[in-house]
Amino acid sequence: MNPSLEDIVSLCKRRGFIYPGSDVYGGLSGTWDYGPLGVTLKRNIMALWWQMFVEQRDDMYGVDAAILMNQKVWQASGHVDTFTDPLVECSNCHGRFRADKIDVSKCPTCGKTDTFGEPKQFNMMFKTSVGPVASDESISYLRPETAQGIFTNFKNVVDSLYPDVPFGIAQQGKAFRNEISPRDFIFRSREFEQMEIEYFVHPSDWERIFEDWVKLVHDWCRALGLPEDKVHELEVPAEDRAHYSKRTIDFEYDYPIGREELLGLAYRTDFDLGNIQRASGKSMEYRPKDGSAPFVPHVIEPSFGLERAVMAVLCAAYTVDTVGDDERIVLKLPRALAPVKVAVSPLLKNKQELVAKAREVYQLLQKEVGAVMWDDNGNIGKRYRRQDEIGTPACVVVDFQTLEDGTVTVRDRDTTEQTRVKIDQLTLALETSR
Ligand code: ATP
Repeated sequence: MNPSLEDIVSLCKRRGFIYPGSDVYGGLSGTWDYGPLGVTLKRNIMALWWQMFVEQRDDMYGVDAAILMNQKVWQASGHVDTFTDPLVECSNCHGRFRADKIDVSKCPTCGKTDTFGEPKQFNMMFKTSVGPVASDESISYLRPETAQGIFTNFKNVVDSLYPDVPFGIAQQGKAFRNEISPRDFIFRSREFEQMEIEYFVHPSDWERIFEDWVKLVHDWCRALGLPEDKVHELEVPAEDRAHYSKRTIDFEYDYPIGREELLGLAYRTDFDLGNIQRASGKSMEYRPKDGSAPFVPHVIEPSFGLERAVMAVLCAAYTVDTVGDDERIVLKLPRALAPVKVAVSPLLKNKQELVAKAREVYQLLQKEVGAVMWDDNGNIGKRYRRQDEIGTPACVVVDFQTLEDGTVTVRDRDTTEQTRVKIDQLTLALETSR
């Protein structure tokens, strides 16, 4: 099943995953708000990433750096001078576009030809001022990537935790880019989240470790439930690579909008630590514990965009199939990502004894499973459809037999099969079901 972008946008709005930012005031281009189900989906993806890349490894350290940083960070990193996109303006309708993303012989808005002049370089950082007095010294920027918050803490982590190289520092958090043309739902936004790792290596090891990271990125895509044949590696040719990179692979996904970048993997050499060393005058050399020669570590950087992961996950999970005579939309999310793990309902909502027992089961699961939804609206079939559409892996129904033998019906989202399970074995059954 290949849903259209409209299918995904419509489901997200209808069911409380994602809304346009500042919607009530007519919106703010390039911003999106996550609703009750979207925030949980997003956090589940972040938690899975943190588990896989930080908690389950011995060589990884987490940080959470401030978004506002000293402007010297962005001067030294090259962002002040070169974090630009080529901007063109149509002399007829004054529409502004990224020159490398359109055919500049014809304006995409008004259709006039030959209305574009030479592109200007437009810096994508949001500039702001820190403190009550605006001056050159008070300039700061909303960070356009989380990576610099990692590099600036390299020395702190080494001095406080003494890790052996190779080791990595990981961070999740907001990044801001004043994109010329935000587009395609959350794919290109002006405010988004990144999950980045700077993996510090000895310069002689980078090729081997880069290959390890290629495999780890594929493991990640599998954990998100992305079909392997929709994930592609694009070896970025030297002329298209960022100036600091000696090798880059863009991992692309077959989105409804076409094959586009999901995340990037780059070998950034010692570009950033070298810059910090020059600009701050502080040594970024690493001294191995075995007494061998000190060196400035090189860096492998997997850079994951959270929104692009959310969008890929939703597109991969979105399925339309038929159950009996009914067509249904079902989100076949991996259980770890599903915002609601289980829905609980009484078979009939006007039978007190069923409602009371169902409440008991609901409270038990709330404690043991978390993320449980109470659903007693409409008939059972409608409840199942509603839960299918938001990806709830299991629905539990309390019926008259429950009152007799202490078993409930557990209905599986993907197979729609129903089994009877004893209440005291329910948690285990739900946790091992998918
Ligand atoms: P693009 O070429 O699509 O603009 P990029 O190569 O500039 O992306 P990077 O600077 O490598 O992107 O950023 C790392 C990751 O951050 C990207 O792979 C993507 O997942 C995410 N990302 C970058 N820009 C945006 C954006 N405007 N909206 C959402 N996610 C983004």
